[in-house]
Amino acid sequence: MNCDGVVRSISGYIDNELEPTVKHEFEVHTADCWECKVLVEQTRNTVRIFFDCDLVDLPADARKRLHEKLRKNIGHRPSR
Ligand SMILES: [Zn+2]
Repeated sequence: MNCDGVVRSISGYIDNELEPTVKHEFEVHTADCWECKVLVEQTRNTVRIFFDCDLVDLPADARKRLHEKLRKNIGHRPSR
């Protein structure tokens, strides 16, 4: 997996919805890639802040808003 793959898979990773093989590749890459490690941390923090505001079970609507928020954050990441 490369950095683009991480960006594409990150919401699934945070939600723990990746295929085991994809998850493994994701973790192998982020273990080596500082930028992606930071991205995962930032995304986790975003999710945590979001959970603190909205709490407990994420209804489908909140989930959708969360993913939009994540996409927006990731969009701000300078591409190479
Ligand atoms: Zn990377």
